Amino acid sequence: MNISQAHFDSTHGEVIADIDKDHFKAIKDALTAKGAQVIVLDYPIVRDEEECIECGACISVCHVNVFSFSRDWSLEMDTDKCIQCGTCIKMCPHNALTLEH
Ligand code: SF4
Ligand code: SF4
Repeated sequence: MNISQAHFDSTHGEVIADIDKDHFKAIKDALTAKGAQVIVLDYPIVRDEEECIECGACISVCHVNVFSFSRDWSLEMDTDKCIQCGTCIKMCPHNALTLEH
């Protein structure tokens, strides 16, 4: 298991880790038994390019830097970084972002 990101504060904690398929069930069961919620990050954010007006609001709210502007000010996405928190969906003024499960 490789931990790529961890965040803890006084109210909650989050850990993002790469786990190979052979060990996933055992690790998931162990964490769940201790009260943790385990989510598989297989479905990153999706942008509807017809709806997106490239306002940049999502850039400022995504704390793992999925969004950025290219040199010509078009919106670029690095969806491999998405942790499916859903924050950008609420901030998008054109409802251009979705998470599909
Ligand atoms: S907030 Fe929505 S409309 Fe604005 S750049 Fe992001 S996806 Fe596009
Ligand atoms: S769902 Fe969360 S992590 Fe994924 S792009 Fe939106 S704000 Fe970033």
